[in-house]
Amino acid sequence: FISLEGVNKWYGSFQVLTDVNLQVKAGERIVICGPSGSGKSTLIRCINRLETVQQGRITVDGIDLTDGGRNVEAVRREVGMVFQQFNLFPHLTVLENCTLAPVQSGRMNRQEAQDIALHFLTRVRIPDQANKYPSQLSGGQQQRVAIARALCMKPKVMLFDEPTSALDPEMVKEVLDTMVGLAEDGMTMLCVTHEMGFARSVADRVIFMADGRILEQAPPAQFFGQPQHEKTRNFLGQIL
Ligand code: ATP
Ligand code: MG
Repeated sequence: FISLEGVNKWYGSFQVLTDVNLQVKAGERIVICGPSGSGKSTLIRCINRLETVQQGRITVDGIDLTDGGRNVEAVRREVGMVFQQFNLFPHLTVLENCTLAPVQSGRMNRQEAQDIALHFLTRVRIPDQANKYPSQLSGGQQQRVAIARALCMKPKVMLFDEPTSALDPEMVKEVLDTMVGLAEDGMTMLCVTHEMGFARSVADRVIFMADGRILEQAPPAQFFGQPQHEKTRNFLGQIL
């Protein structure tokens, strides 16, 4: 469903991704971890073309992202993204944050967009916050709005870039629970996270990145039980 073949990317003369190959099937749940600066964010940002690559081929649901930008709109419709900093529009209410893209893109009229927004706000268990502004919510609530907002576009894939690392510890669980719910519904997910409990219980595959390369990938039992590379073992030793 998602395919990266021979992907290389540079920022100036610095090579940030080296020979990345990755195949993700529909419905698969992937957790990506690795040291700071290893290229995790860059990698997933390439999958909705927030970043471009100089070499290699990336396709999502058959849409080629590496053909000069003709398919950006198409792929953004299929791929939802949630960031570490929730990136909500501060001057819009929760409901307006959720209905903006569906209405502006012409996919839905206002009423349809509101119905769907309330549906997903209910799913992330904050329908009662719909008319508040982001600054009036807790961090965990804001992140759940960000997830609901992404879902309102009916994406086929969800990308998460450290969605819980800006949250106070007591709010991490409510966001992870939302992500577990999505996984149980069969959403295709790529999650950059160091929440290894989530990785163990939800991931089909855990990917370890170092220095812009995928160094190792395996189902969680194998990944945590018998990590192959010394760098993986060192990393796990630091965070577990
Ligand atoms: P972290 O765990 O800290 O979020 P990461 O694995 O997500 O790290 P990236 O954000 O993908 O890492 O960055 C990989 C490398 O590319 C880093 O060395 C970073 O400094 C560099 N980099 C990222 N964005 C840019 C940019 N826009 N211009 C130049 N260098 C960049
Ligand atoms: Mg990052």
